[in-house]
Amino acid sequence: MSNKIHQGGCVCGDIRYEVTGDPDIVIVCHCEWCQRRTGSAFAMIPKWEQTNFKLTSGTLKAYREVNEFGRWLDLKFCPRCGTNIGFTQERRPTAQAVDAGTLDDPSIVNRHNHDFRYIFMRSHQDWTAVPKGEAIYDGPMSDNVSDPPPARQE
Ligand SMILES: [Zn+2]
Ligand SMILES: [Zn+2]
Repeated sequence: MSNKIHQGGCVCGDIRYEVTGDPDIVIVCHCEWCQRRTGSAFAMIPKWEQTNFKLTSGTLKAYREVNEFGRWLDLKFCPRCGTNIGFTQERRPTAQAVDAGTLDDPSIVNRHNHDFRYIFMRSHQDWTAVPKGEAIYDGPMSDNVSDPPPARQE
């Protein structure tokens, strides 16, 4: 485990943050909700413990969504330019999910060093291919990092 500090921020520069060390897990989410909230084909979401996430400039705004089970999820974004920075959720409130594209160097999160899980493949756009041998889920996965990955697909 490295204790390296990585920096990131929003498009306009008001929001700056630091994360320390490696993410606990990296979710590549192809769900329709992530496609909508990012405006893209899928979301790449490394998760750090909140103690390893520090806002160094600006104030994040949060939009709270409550799902059909009554659980909250706070989407965090820059109030000036609207860039998604990530989210926290009731299911695991000590974790901070970060939208990886906001890191100054998103390539520090990569499948050679980190535990990648590709979820909600049932709603993926058919041109998004997952590398062979990766942990693929048709739907959601438990947030428990110690869960074993599903059978590897070749
Ligand atoms: Zn901004
Ligand atoms: Zn999603």
